[in-house]
Amino acid sequence: MSDTPLKPQSKLPALGTTIFSQMSALAQEHRAINLSQGFPDFDGPAFLQQRLAWHVAQGANQYAPMTGVAALREAIADKTAELYGCRPDPETDVTVTAGATEALYAAITALVRPGDEVICFDPSYDSYAPAVALSGGVMKRMALQPPGFRVDWAQFAALLSPRTRLVILNTPHNPTATVWAQEDFSALWQAIAGQEIYVLSDEVYEHICFAKGGHASVLAHPQLRERAIAVSSFGKTFHMTGWKVGYCIAPAPLSAEVRKLHQYLTFSVNTPAQLALADMLRAEPEHYRTLPAFYRARRDLFVEALQPGRFQLLPCEGTYFLLADYSAISERNDVDFCRWLTAEVGVAAIPLSVFCEGPFPHRLIRLCFAKQPETLLAAAERLVAL
Ligand code: PMP
Ligand code: GLN
Repeated sequence: MSDTPLKPQSKLPALGTTIFSQMSALAQEHRAINLSQGFPDFDGPAFLQQRLAWHVAQGANQYAPMTGVAALREAIADKTAELYGCRPDPETDVTVTAGATEALYAAITALVRPGDEVICFDPSYDSYAPAVALSGGVMKRMALQPPGFRVDWAQFAALLSPRTRLVILNTPHNPTATVWAQEDFSALWQAIAGQEIYVLSDEVYEHICFAKGGHASVLAHPQLRERAIAVSSFGKTFHMTGWKVGYCIAPAPLSAEVRKLHQYLTFSVNTPAQLALADMLRAEPEHYRTLPAFYRARRDLFVEALQPGRFQLLPCEGTYFLLADYSAISERNDVDFCRWLTAEVGVAAIPLSVFCEGPFPHRLIRLCFAKQPETLLAAAERLVAL
């Protein structure tokens, strides 16, 4: 073998390692309290763990059906009917995926053709753009402004073109912790009705919503859901991001296209985990019903503990992230500030600018509050000292 390895011309030359991997590694290196990458520092429900062990012991250890275990798809369909008033057909409309990440990738790859335009809202979650690029699509990013990060629908309409193929949205929103109202979905529908434009709705935090009327899902909109792929993740709902089980819901013709991708990306998803999740959804629906209160308590504890400090906190209507403006503390840019905060203060956070393409002149960082009260209080103590 030659001692000079071949170096491929990168298909994604501008892309490095994700900010989540970078910041978690930095947090580990400096033994910082890790409020960067979004994951809980506590375990999921005991019942779920027991059911996983039980199914493994029963020998449920071979391939699951390509679309997902039937019991899980049915439980998902029932939960969707309960929450959004419309039951997808578990046979044709529900697909279990390897986390939401896979569903997003499969959906984008299934829909976007070379030259197609995809509209998304900045800041936007980092996995969308690379998938669009690999499909030859063109991202049209609409920059939203703090503190509300609301969509200006007139500006949105101006972004539409005959090449627009897909709109990607995320509510509750990572990283801004804002949520869409039903009126946003109505405005979206008004803007795209009559055109062949699909909607990819990333709703992985559907059960972590603090807004008055609860989570507004694309699945509750009678017209949009006929052209939408809604994506969710059990990692968020059941505090086990490492299980990597998610799903997507879409009308049969759309699901069929997503499944063509899914079958060659992963074929199928971890069998005993799917069976355990089906048991969990049936036996303890209170878990997801009470999740907003569970996380609201953590948010409020953290916000309260940060009050004496100089961070200015932005409203948090959903997700387990809190945005903090550090203008009163430092003039560093957000990436440098997060590195400094991790290394010198011992708290790791995520800079907001990495979720945007254009310049992001704000001094905002994202803090994850999916942590035990003692973790949050320890982090707050360090942060209020600045
Ligand atoms: N979308 C958003 C907005 C997320 O925050 C995440 C993960 N945190 C994902 C998708 C991916 O979810 P999963 O871990 O289930 O792949
Ligand atoms: N979605 C998680 C976050 O926003 C991270 C997921 C990942 O590391 N890929 O922090």
